[in-house]
Amino acid sequence: MSEHPEETGADPKFWEEGPTLQIGHPVFMNYRREEFHPPFALMEEMIARLESIENEGSRLPENPEWAKKALRSIYALVDELGSQIASGMSCNAGCSACCRVMVSTSSVEAALMIDRLSVEPEDRKESWMEIVRDRNARLKELAAKTSPPADLSTFEGLLATCEDWEKENLPCPFLGEGNLCSIYEDRPLLCRVCWVLTDPEDCNPGAGPPVKFRTKVFEKAYFVVRDISRRHLKNGSVSPIPWWLESH
Ligand code: SF4
Ligand code: SF4
Repeated sequence: MSEHPEETGADPKFWEEGPTLQIGHPVFMNYRREEFHPPFALMEEMIARLESIENEGSRLPENPEWAKKALRSIYALVDELGSQIASGMSCNAGCSACCRVMVSTSSVEAALMIDRLSVEPEDRKESWMEIVRDRNARLKELAAKTSPPADLSTFEGLLATCEDWEKENLPCPFLGEGNLCSIYEDRPLLCRVCWVLTDPEDCNPGAGPPVKFRTKVFEKAYFVVRDISRRHLKNGSVSPIPWWLESH
């Protein structure tokens, strides 16, 4: 199975954004000047597991339920790697500047969030939806200002608006009490792979930019999720979190 970005519908520019450290360095140093040794053997094994999910998805006929199950497996896989690297990273519960940026999500990730909304009590859901509508109204204003107006269901549209969105410094609709994620188990992929080696202060708007620990595992996971979305939900677009939720 090819993993060329253009063939999976994913945009390679995403992985070129900002300063990143790629797999291949034998050792990293975080801002606390602690050495950090990535678990390379596990990472290689994970790439193979992701390829196996990708191959299964390419053989099956369109099946949104399979796609959601596959996404759960991918989430479990990147969380497993996250648990291995967390001690070397700067990220901590309650540290949430990364919940105020534009989080690009695909249709299958949105499907899990929509399922989550459907099982929440009505009053909780309505308070989230109020914020969703507010965020979307602001996103529409920002998108209308670009030339040409940005299409927020494309990667180019997200790129055109993400800097202005960051300046708004508005929290994700799901950022809850104590700056914790209210849908932690169902949060999208990018929320799971945003691991930073630099001072958390560098994640604040106007500071930084932070140096992220990005690996081929996260890159492959991103491409497979996009591929699954395209094949099994017939929607390969990417949009900010609130954009998918307005009509639910
Ligand atoms: S990405 Fe930055 S803001 Fe988010 S948890 Fe990590 S250090 Fe904190
Ligand atoms: S889904 Fe959760 S982790 Fe992701 S941006 Fe929103 S609050 Fe933060």
